[in-house]
Amino acid sequence: MAEQKQKVRVATVSLAGCFGCHMSFLDMDERLITLLDRIELDCSPLTDIKQCGDCDIGLVEGGLCNAENVHKLREFRARCKTLVAVGACAINGGLPAQRNHLDIRDCLQTVYLTGPGIERGFIPNDPELPLPLKQVHPIHDVVKVDYFLPGCPPSGEAIWQFLTQLLAGHTPQLGHALLRYD
Ligand code: SF4
Repeated sequence: MAEQKQKVRVATVSLAGCFGCHMSFLDMDERLITLLDRIELDCSPLTDIKQCGDCDIGLVEGGLCNAENVHKLREFRARCKTLVAVGACAINGGLPAQRNHLDIRDCLQTVYLTGPGIERGFIPNDPELPLPLKQVHPIHDVVKVDYFLPGCPPSGEAIWQFLTQLLAGHTPQLGHALLRYD
């Protein structure tokens, strides 16, 4: 009987992002079936598995905007042999980093106290809430990143090309035509 090839374990995580990069993963459509012949998904919003096992490839969507993001990222990095920053938010902070030129106190006051339509507002202070960082950071500020997959979001085609090249043991090379910022 032919020996079954062991599947590559892949995990994904979403930090300070919008889930658009995860939606793009699903945009691979029927190629997902082909991909699932080669990989097995571990923890991921796509599988709803919360605890990560040891993985070969970890895909990170989103940057770091609070203490929980940093904690989650460090744990994820420790589980993944190869880490990929997927999308603009993971690579450079993306849209959430637009707050970086503002004072975090001013942001909180405007959103929760003085913004239009707010009555009897208060700044949430439940100890269970993760503390916001003063600035939004790309993930390479905190952990080693092996590969960067740009785009906002990277298209399903770009993710497909990237993963198939990586699974074939190559350093992924994507042409300009596959880079997209919608
Ligand atoms: S890179 Fe774009 S699509 Fe991906 S999480 Fe950030 S904002 Fe969303």
